[in-house]
Amino acid sequence: MTKNGFLKEGNSIKVTLPEGHISEKWDNHKFSMKVVNPANKRKYTVIVVGTGLAGASAAASLAELGYNVKNFCIQDSPRRAHSIGAQGGINAAKNYQNDGDSIWRLFYDTVKGGDFRAREANVYRLAQTSVNIIDHCVAQGIPFAREYGGLLDNRSFGGALVSRTFYARGQTGQQLLLGAYSSLMRQVDTGKVELLPRREMLDLVIHDGIARGIVVRNLINGAIESHSGDAVVLATGGYGNVFYLSTNAINSNATAAWRCFKKGAYFANPCFTQIHPTCIPFSGEYQSKLTLMSESLRNDGRIWVPKKKGENRPSNEIPEEDRDYFLERKYPTFGNLVPRDVGSRNIKEVCDEERGVGDMGRAVYMDFADAIQRLGKDVIEDKYGNLFDLYEKITGEDAYQVPMRIYPAVHYTMGGLWVDYDLMSNVPGLFVLGEANFSDHGANRLGASALMQGLADGYFVIPYTIGNYLAGTKFDKVTADAPEFKDSEQLIRDFTQRLLSIKGKKTVREFHRELGQIVWDKVGMSRNEKGLKEAIEQIRDLREDYWKNVLVTGDAGTLNKYLEFAGRVADYFELAELMAIDALHRNESCGAHFREESQTSEGEALRNDTDYTYVAAWEYTSEGNPSILNKENLEFEYVKPSERVYK
Ligand SMILES: Cc1cc2nc3c(=O)[nH]c(=O)nc-3n(C[C@H](O)[C@H](O)[C@H](O)COP(=O)(O)OP(=O)(O)OC[C@H]3O[C@@H](n4cnc5c(N)ncnc54)[C@H](O)[C@@H]3O)c2cc1C
Repeated sequence: MTKNGFLKEGNSIKVTLPEGHISEKWDNHKFSMKVVNPANKRKYTVIVVGTGLAGASAAASLAELGYNVKNFCIQDSPRRAHSIGAQGGINAAKNYQNDGDSIWRLFYDTVKGGDFRAREANVYRLAQTSVNIIDHCVAQGIPFAREYGGLLDNRSFGGALVSRTFYARGQTGQQLLLGAYSSLMRQVDTGKVELLPRREMLDLVIHDGIARGIVVRNLINGAIESHSGDAVVLATGGYGNVFYLSTNAINSNATAAWRCFKKGAYFANPCFTQIHPTCIPFSGEYQSKLTLMSESLRNDGRIWVPKKKGENRPSNEIPEEDRDYFLERKYPTFGNLVPRDVGSRNIKEVCDEERGVGDMGRAVYMDFADAIQRLGKDVIEDKYGNLFDLYEKITGEDAYQVPMRIYPAVHYTMGGLWVDYDLMSNVPGLFVLGEANFSDHGANRLGASALMQGLADGYFVIPYTIGNYLAGTKFDKVTADAPEFKDSEQLIRDFTQRLLSIKGKKTVREFHRELGQIVWDKVGMSRNEKGLKEAIEQIRDLREDYWKNVLVTGDAGTLNKYLEFAGRVADYFELAELMAIDALHRNESCGAHFREESQTSEGEALRNDTDYTYVAAWEYTSEGNPSILNKENLEFEYVKPSERVYK
């Protein structure tokens, strides 16, 4: 049965969760899972794709346990993974501030922040393991910020009323990744990890119904290589670059996850994409990337616009009475620290009212004058110095003197490959970690929770759950010469040749920019039925044109960035269509997914718990045919769904 020709209704997915009260599930599970005896661990090979926080922590931990690990990444060094760019911090329920935090509160905030579209048991485990992450990282030597007395410092992030974010200035991701990388390199040195950089995974290989390897392209010499193993761990990050302009690293992409989808792995909630409220505004056609100004800045920066339309006085000549601190006014309890989806929508709204600032009127002020007066410039510099420097380098403005100008931008993807409680996809032996999976954040991720999730997955979940899988599975001997690998290799060669032989007139980048504009306009911060249907048609037309008119220069046997990007953009077309279909079918607003048809009288997101309390897990059928919509119904036993109020 097809619904509007866009989708086929599928099955209901049943997830097996451990027994017991939510606070005991993970401990019960850890005890009941099978364990691989140390002498047997060295007989297994685990393929880990990705060296960001999720991949590097997983590879290092699995090798430490004794497994043989093959670790792949696109970049020349694992340290160049997108995680290195994370700025603001990492959450943990340590309650060092004695301000009422607890595992339960972090669990509660995350379920509520995700607008009741995440699986409770996974979220609880995340909150539970958060406390271990900080200890682990401190032991690795991560230089978290400390207070004068030497204790670890914390700051606040959106959607929380406590201070639970650990940070290293505005370079938290960098410091955490250096820690994970050090552990990884130690294992490379012991010979337990084989590091394979400059390889792009282009296919997942399934043998006898289970994941047994991958096929990659060597990005230096173009060779197509097959690698077999006993399990595949995918930690390849998010797909925000579908939008062309985003805060993600240029190399972030969806290809590995998308190719797994085409091999049978479900893709969950693709329309749940996060638009971050505080980024440096878009300033011209030439731009290929946007820059984040960390959420941590909202601890001290006050967001405002002029009260009247078309105000043309410089910011510091606009007196207090003519300013509208709209977040503080509308959300007195959370103020400037409302969650990202709420912040972004409100910024868009004041700009739509023509009260935006800057040349294009698509920006609002984030002002530190009060904080500098209260705390002194030194304190602000200490906390955020590198962010102020970054801002000045890009805009030429000194944010100690004039307010920053900021606007929302695509930042993070809550959707991703579907996983069960063990972080295994529906394809046995394919595990998915970090931003690449859909787990934990529901329809909206809270700030500083992605680093927490990536490291929880890599350091504390996969080391247990993969053992359970390996110990309970019988493996045939499969080598990279097996026919399934040869078929995949041929498929990739054909795909590459097809791209190279088009020799059209438009560059990959031109197509990508056009695609991004459609997705931003119609599948972005606010969506409606008409726009989504138009988007689906426009994406299909543009995709057809792509396969007739794209120009990919060079050849397949050398380093060829055009070819790399051409393959990724080909996947973005298909993923973008699924994002629009997912957004169209979900006729409710929840978290970052705002359907204009479903809002309260005050313009807030209006959920429909009767019809949509589920994870949409899409299943690939075949080229040109609608995907199947499978549903995992979500049950909320511990945090009862309520209206998400931040006022
Ligand atoms: C500017 C910015 C700031 C952020 N700040 C914060 C913050 O302060 N706190 C927070 O919690 N979150 C933050 N986030 C989000 C967070 O950084 C990411 O969600 C997180 O780092 C993702 O980690 P990951 O390990 O899942 O993936 P990534 O770090 O994206 O790593 C992906 C890895 O996969 C590899 N890879 C990808 N595709 C392939 C392929 N086909 N073949 C082989 N290898 C492949 C890459 O080479 C890379 O090694 C921020 C995000 C951005 C954009």
